[in-house]
Amino acid sequence: MTAVVNAYREAGFAGDFAVEEATQPDGTVRAVVRCGRCASSLDPQRITMHSIRRLEGASDPADMVAVIAATCPVCANDGTVVVAFGPMASAADSAVLVAMRDERDDEVLPPAMAPGERSPGATGHVGGATGTAHTGGSNTETS
Ligand SMILES: [Zn+2]
Repeated sequence: MTAVVNAYREAGFAGDFAVEEATQPDGTVRAVVRCGRCASSLDPQRITMHSIRRLEGASDPADMVAVIAATCPVCANDGTVVVAFGPMASAADSAVLVAMRDERDDEVLPPAMAPGERSPGATGHVGGATGTAHTGGSNTETS
């Protein structure tokens, strides 16, 4: 997980966000995301999610976490937030995960992996810069 977070940091998402539970005046508890720079407690719906990298533990469900690259709407802080998902996720983590504004198609970052990361199995990106073979070319002339 550290490697994933570091990859996002190197891509400019160097800040930190934290999931917190905030008790509202009416007594209900809501999940909020606190920005590590401006300390705003943010409604997760205001957070822009650029990329999410899920990490699944080999056998332990408690290891199922997602690293999300996000941007603060108040101070424009780019950073990462780590949330648990799956059976061990807290209510707050689950709420944040579904509430964030999904902007993964904005091409800021790869949508489902850390920048520069190579996924072992799936070749995520279709298209892009594939080397065009043989421009021009030497035609073999048959005489
Ligand atoms: Zn902020």
